[in-house]
Amino acid sequence: MLSQRVRNIAPSATLSIDAKAKQLKKEGKDVVIFGAGEPDFNTPENIKQAAKKAIDNNITRYTPVGGMPELKKAVADKFSNFNKINYDVSEITIGCGGKHILYNAMVSVLEKGDEAILPVPYWVSFEEIIKIAEAKVVLCETDENFKLTAEKVEEKITNKTKLLILNSPNNPSGAIVEPSEIKKIAKLAVDNNFYVISDEVYEYFTYGKEHLSMASLDDEIKQLVITCNSVSKTYAMTGWRIGYCGASKEVIKGMENLQSHSTSNPSNIAQMAALEALTGPQDSVKQMIKAFDERRKFIHKRLNEIDGISCIEPEGAFYAFPNIEGSGMDSMTFASKLLDEALVAVVPGAAFGKEGYIRLSYATSMHEIERGLDRIEKWLNQTTIKA
Ligand code: PLP
Repeated sequence: MLSQRVRNIAPSATLSIDAKAKQLKKEGKDVVIFGAGEPDFNTPENIKQAAKKAIDNNITRYTPVGGMPELKKAVADKFSNFNKINYDVSEITIGCGGKHILYNAMVSVLEKGDEAILPVPYWVSFEEIIKIAEAKVVLCETDENFKLTAEKVEEKITNKTKLLILNSPNNPSGAIVEPSEIKKIAKLAVDNNFYVISDEVYEYFTYGKEHLSMASLDDEIKQLVITCNSVSKTYAMTGWRIGYCGASKEVIKGMENLQSHSTSNPSNIAQMAALEALTGPQDSVKQMIKAFDERRKFIHKRLNEIDGISCIEPEGAFYAFPNIEGSGMDSMTFASKLLDEALVAVVPGAAFGKEGYIRLSYATSMHEIERGLDRIEKWLNQTTIKA
C-alpha cells in the first residue's frame, strides 16, 4: 500500500552497522565508535542559556514560516561577513536543520525528467532526496584526491541538467574543491543555466585552507546558487535542528511555500538559540577547530602506518576516508568483520558510493582514536596472516 516514491528509498547501508554497534555497547561491550557525524563537544553554555531564556520569556509561539526576522538578519550578516555574499533578508530562509533545507531546496527546483549531477563520494541523503524529487541521479567522478573538477562536471552536462550538488568540505572524504575549479564550475552553471546547491555545513573546518562560497563570485552565479548551511556542526547543535540558506527570492519563496504545508516554522526556542550562536562569542568554534585539527593530523599519520591501509590527508570536515583495498575485503565485509572481531565501528565506503574505502569520524576523543586505531592495526595484521 505504500507509495512507489517511499518504496524507492534505499535503506541506509550505514544503519545496520550503527544499530549493531549501539546494541553491542548496550550489552556492555567496549566498542570504539568512529561513526558519528556530529561533534563530540557540548553545545556552548551561552547558546543553552539563550534557549532557557526564550522559554522563560514565553517565546514559544509560531514564528513566520521561514523563520524569525531577527534570525534571518543574523544569517544575512553572517553570509556577508564570513562568506562575502550579500543576501537581502528576502533571500534567506530558515528550516528544521541543514538536511531539511536541502530537502526543501531540491524538491523546489527538481522535477521528473531533470538530471542532477552528484559527485562521488557523496553524503547519502543527496542521492535519496534527488530520487524523492523524481529527478535522475547522474554520478560524477572526482580526481584521485576526491576533488571535484570542472572537467569532470562538464562531461556530465546535458540539456536536462538542472542541478549540481557541490559539497565542500566534503562528507565523507574531507576534500575541499580548489577555488580555481569553483570558478570554472560556476561558469559552466551560468553558460548551461543550471542550479548549484552548495552545501557548506563544514565551512569552518578547513584547517588553514581557504573556503570559497560559489555565490560570492558575482551576481550572475549568485542567482543560480542555493547556499545551504546549518548551525549543527559549527556550534555542536545537531539536536537543535536549525538549518538556513541563501538563494534567489524565487527559490526562497518556493521553499517557504513547501515548508508552510509541512513543518511550518522551525522550533522558536531553537531559533533563539541559533540567533545567539551566530551573534554571540565565537571562542568555542575556535576551540573545536583546534581540537579537530590535532586529531586530523594524528589519524592521518596513524592510518598510514597500518599495513593494508592508505589515506590521503583529509583537508576539511571531521572525517578520514582511507583506502582499504590492501586488506582484500570489500568495504561492507571490512566494516562488519571489524565490528564483530575487534569492536570498532566504521562506515563502509559503499554507503557513500565509493567501494574500497571506509569512513572514520574523528569527532571523538584522542584517547578513543588511539584505542580504535591500535585495535584496527592488530586486527588487520591477524586477519591478513590468517588469509
Ligand atoms: N550536509 C552534509 C554534507 C552533512 O554531512 C550533514 C549531516 O551529517 C548535513 C548536511 C545536515 O546536517 P543537519 O541536518 O544536522 O544540519
